[in-house]
Amino acid sequence: MSMDNALRVLQKYFGYTQFRDGQQKVIESLLKGEDTLAIMPTGAGKSLSYQIPALLFQGTTLVISPLISLMKDQVDALQQFGVPATFINSSLTFSEVRSRIGRAARGEYKLLYVAPERLESDSFGILLRSLNVSFLAIDEAHCVSQWGHDFRPSYLQLGPFLRSLPQKPIIGAFTATATEEVQRDIVRLLELNQPNVFVTGFDRPNLSFTTIRGENKKAFVLEYAQIHNDQAGIIYAGTRKEVDQLQVFLRKHGLKAGKYHAGMSDQDRQKSQDDFLFDETPIMVATNAFGMGIDKSNVRYVIHYNMPKNMEAYYQEAGRAGRDGEPGECILLFSAQDVVLQRFLIEQSVFQPERKLNEHKKLQGMVDYCHTSRCLRKTILEYFGEEDIQDQCGNCSNCKDVREMVDITLDAQKIFSCIYRMRERFGIGMVAEVLKGSRKAKIFELNFDKLSTYGLMRETSLQEIKDLINYLVAESYLQLSTGEYPVLKLLPAAVSVIKGEANVLKKVSQQPARDLAEEVSLFDRLRALRKQLASQENLPPYMIFADSTLREMSQVCPVNPREMIRISGVGERKLEKYGDIFLNEIANFREASEPKGVNSTFFPARDTSDATLKPSRERADLNSTAKDMSKNKLASHMQSLLLYQEGYSIKEIGKVRKITELTVQDHLVRCSLEGHAVPWDDFIPLEQEPLILEAVKKVGREKLRPIKDLLPAEVEWFTIRAVLEKHKILY
Ligand code: ADP
Ligand code: MG
Repeated sequence: MSMDNALRVLQKYFGYTQFRDGQQKVIESLLKGEDTLAIMPTGAGKSLSYQIPALLFQGTTLVISPLISLMKDQVDALQQFGVPATFINSSLTFSEVRSRIGRAARGEYKLLYVAPERLESDSFGILLRSLNVSFLAIDEAHCVSQWGHDFRPSYLQLGPFLRSLPQKPIIGAFTATATEEVQRDIVRLLELNQPNVFVTGFDRPNLSFTTIRGENKKAFVLEYAQIHNDQAGIIYAGTRKEVDQLQVFLRKHGLKAGKYHAGMSDQDRQKSQDDFLFDETPIMVATNAFGMGIDKSNVRYVIHYNMPKNMEAYYQEAGRAGRDGEPGECILLFSAQDVVLQRFLIEQSVFQPERKLNEHKKLQGMVDYCHTSRCLRKTILEYFGEEDIQDQCGNCSNCKDVREMVDITLDAQKIFSCIYRMRERFGIGMVAEVLKGSRKAKIFELNFDKLSTYGLMRETSLQEIKDLINYLVAESYLQLSTGEYPVLKLLPAAVSVIKGEANVLKKVSQQPARDLAEEVSLFDRLRALRKQLASQENLPPYMIFADSTLREMSQVCPVNPREMIRISGVGERKLEKYGDIFLNEIANFREASEPKGVNSTFFPARDTSDATLKPSRERADLNSTAKDMSKNKLASHMQSLLLYQEGYSIKEIGKVRKITELTVQDHLVRCSLEGHAVPWDDFIPLEQEPLILEAVKKVGREKLRPIKDLLPAEVEWFTIRAVLEKHKILY
């Protein structure tokens, strides 16, 4: 079976032009009939790596997927792409199960999703044997390992189940977890036969990483969520209690926030998950129980309210942002208490001492990440064993940090000496109260009002004092002891500060960037349309089109189906189903942003001898020309071309006709398609043309996105379109 077929299937069903890094090799290996273990980070595209072979193999592919609650979503998403698929889990009656297997045996489904629990049932096993499965795909394969963080005992049934089959199918195992123990367990317990193992690069360039230490977390989260209130985001908190509190807090401030943790009823969790998937509640506050198997592609940010226990867990959770390849923001809020909690959890665990030690080591890796001033991306990738990584990614808080350092030595000295005078026997709250000069009974009982440091920071708010102490812990001037009541101790660095031998610096806290107030854009309009269609069909919006697809549509503004199918993410099925309605919306938007009455007019014979129209003409001239035109009757796009031929720039045309530059560009393309000559060279910087042609040679001209991806960022969409139009005869 050739990769050409695989590529054709990718284009036809999914509307993508190329395989991503890693997908190609994994698919090749499977098509050769070899057992394959694929380790690819979250969002890299594991699903397609088994769905494409499944579409090419004879018969039905069995997909093992851990979460019953999400099977329906996965199957719905496939059906949206026109792929025949169904699922079997405990929500179905036995006769329904039998009927689905029967239909699978008759070739009605290419993929059958099955929960691992089903394999424990004998009657189900017998039914399955009638199916003659040739390919078994095991998603989230790390669930088989007790070393992993999502161990599912039922995954252990897979080995015996496989042995019971008359003929061993090809096995593909997929996971994002890279540790060696887990890898070994997968190969051993799933009985992979000399598997090809592929580890894809772990970098996710569209994600930005930020760590924030010693900041008021609640205030930060609130402000961030307010600024990004129309975007979907996940906020992970460490405990159920913290999830409950944070969700109530955000709601109180008028934000639409849902929650998810293991202490809720199945029904409540399902509802909350659905509301998030359907963009009803954009914010999800959750413990790490939430997320596995959630393929929502338009999650724009993931905030960790508490530090997770290790890098594997962090990268998996943070990686749920930006699956669609659009920018995603990953923010980790660090506080020293998180370390205390994680240490405590490891100590409380039932692990053997050797295993505990290993967990402590991993925890330290996570703590180091929170403190490093090196590039965060480099730190992550090195943790996962990658080499030759550039020193600066330019897209993490350390690379982008241009904040000013402020000297806080004096405040630090006050805090340190207060802790010293309180004999290093109290926690953050009490120390802050003393510095603030609190009048609580406890303070007087302990005679702290007699201390020379009492009320020394009266002018500062209590919360700010606490934040400052947290910062000093995070920066290792202070240590927070373990145990139920953590107390503050001075570390050697603090002693030098008290003695006046060293200064303490703090970067001035950074406000998250505010999005510029934007007028309603075409992208917003398309998003609204998507939402409306989604609720009619009872589907999550991202299953209609991904954000990245809408973004490209709004930039390219396709005018007909031929242009529409060029958009990445538009395959045959979706074109048929949604093409017209989205084309219509795009056309409406363009019309609405143009002056009234233009389209229904006609243009008189033009006096070409009119020499008054020169590029350098006065503004008044320009306006009157445009007005003349609107009075006359010529298709809108032709009017733009005429103005251009008369020497107006695209910008000027947009301004005077009260349409966007994008629309003007689109007009020119339309004229060109209709056979009018457009001086494309005006829009093509000399040095970019060969680059663009080169890229087109590589990936074809079917879609713009792959071409753009191959080019330097400064090459504009419109330049690519211009080159394509200029050279249309050649391709
Ligand atoms: P994973 O399971 O590895 O976390 P998914 O399979 O959910 O990732 O894929 C993440 C996103 O990437 C999905 O929205 C999917 O449609 C998209 N995707 C996968 N392969 C490609 C490709 N070759 N081109 C463009 N988008 C892709
Ligand atoms: Mg997946």
